[in-house]
Amino acid sequence: MNDVTKRVVPPGGTIGILGGGQLGRMTAMAAARLGYRSHIYCPDEDTPAAQVADKVTVASYFDRDALAAFGDVIDVVTYEFENVPTLSPQYVWARGVPVRPSTKALDISQNRMAEKYFLKDCGVPMVKWIGVPAPVNLAEAVEKIGRPSILKSARGGYDGKGQVRIGPDTDLDAVWQEMGGENGVLEAVADFVCEVSVIVARGLDGTVVHYGPMENRHAHGILDTTTVPARVDEAVAAEARRIAEVVAVELDVVGLLAVEMFVLADGKVLVNEIAPRPHNSGHWTIDACMTSQFEQHVRAICGVPLGSTERFFDAEMRNLLGDAIDDWERYLATPNARLHLYGKREARPGRKMGHVTFLTPMGGEP
Ligand code: ATP
Ligand code: MG
Repeated sequence: MNDVTKRVVPPGGTIGILGGGQLGRMTAMAAARLGYRSHIYCPDEDTPAAQVADKVTVASYFDRDALAAFGDVIDVVTYEFENVPTLSPQYVWARGVPVRPSTKALDISQNRMAEKYFLKDCGVPMVKWIGVPAPVNLAEAVEKIGRPSILKSARGGYDGKGQVRIGPDTDLDAVWQEMGGENGVLEAVADFVCEVSVIVARGLDGTVVHYGPMENRHAHGILDTTTVPARVDEAVAAEARRIAEVVAVELDVVGLLAVEMFVLADGKVLVNEIAPRPHNSGHWTIDACMTSQFEQHVRAICGVPLGSTERFFDAEMRNLLGDAIDDWERYLATPNARLHLYGKREARPGRKMGHVTFLTPMGGEP
């Protein structure tokens, strides 16, 4: 078929994945289950994804020759983290390979300012925010948004990096340096009762299925635990799913879209941020659902039918950061624990080394 955007990739095809982390690893494992091959493209040696893939290219995200050669041997390309330079999928696209989700989705999600404008156009509720193009604009922005507020770098942030809280006495000169970005977004601090996320999978034909909402607890800006089901009213859950679906449709996502949200005491749901890829808050789906988020991503980007998202257990997923991985033996000995390790050699503090999902019968006592 000439129209690349409509290309279906049946089992046996090769999925190109930009990025070599644990999300790529779990995507490649799900792909293998369905008879697909994965080809990882990433600048680092011995990555979690490369360890389980059919082929690996170790090259810079800006290496045009390497990207062209990669494009020539894959049937579809996706990315497993949003800080991949957009030039990389564009080069692969130029070789006639569909990019799913689109380069536009990548472009929007890697720039917080662009993402805010996009979400505003979607008409979904958000925390109060204002773009801060340069340090000279910060004082006025803080005046408008008030304190406490959070300055977030527009680019390059993840796991709470590039974010600075502005309290009643915070000196604004120091804040910009600490944020570290070229420009930023100032947000009001949401007084939330809990954080939730919904992961939407959208097929090539526009079919939409959801996971969640799940309830997420963070420690030091990094996801610590995800609990399903989220302890929210059905009306709140329905609103969270509605918002996530609106964003996925507006962004014309083919693949997964994760939407992180704040739930306020009055039941209002506000979008925090989005990610067009598998998400840490969806790892429990591997063990608790008919179809995992990773398999769903593979199905969607290959244009084959999506699977059921039916859930069979209540679940709590805990991230294993740094030396928390040392407890592996205890988890292996726990009957309702499902342990996942990412094959990273060095357990640096705060580094995601693995996760463990505890399964309990549905509807049990929390
Ligand atoms: P990740 O990539 O891990 O999702 P990130 O670095 O992109 O994180 P955010 O999701 O923006 O960062 O923020 C991380 C966490 O910090 C949020 O999940 C939330 O707990 C807290 N946080 C961020 N923005 C706000 C806000 N406006 N009000 C209250 N809490 C916030
Ligand atoms: Mg986040």
